[in-house]
Amino acid sequence: MKTTLKNNRECLRTCIGCRQVKNKRELVRLTCTHEEIVEIDLTGKKQGRGMYLCPVESCWRRSLEKGRLEYASRVKLGDDNRQSLLFYSRGFLKK
Ligand SMILES: [Zn+2]
Repeated sequence: MKTTLKNNRECLRTCIGCRQVKNKRELVRLTCTHEEIVEIDLTGKKQGRGMYLCPVESCWRRSLEKGRLEYASRVKLGDDNRQSLLFYSRGFLKK
């Protein structure tokens, strides 16, 4: 066991796209609002249930297309919500 892992243990989160466990600083946080809208939380400080995704296009596409985001957030994603997530994600996703 590497001792460096121990120090960051509480910062580890699972990507809902690929299910890999990573330090949350490497992941993008999403939250679900009271209005049942899923939002990207680049500050990591918004209230609400948090979900995490790698900043990689395949993880976003997988989670949006396979219903994983809806399952994780327990929200039925509307088309507008889905489109806005895809739109914002293009700004920081690696191709
Ligand atoms: Zn991922």
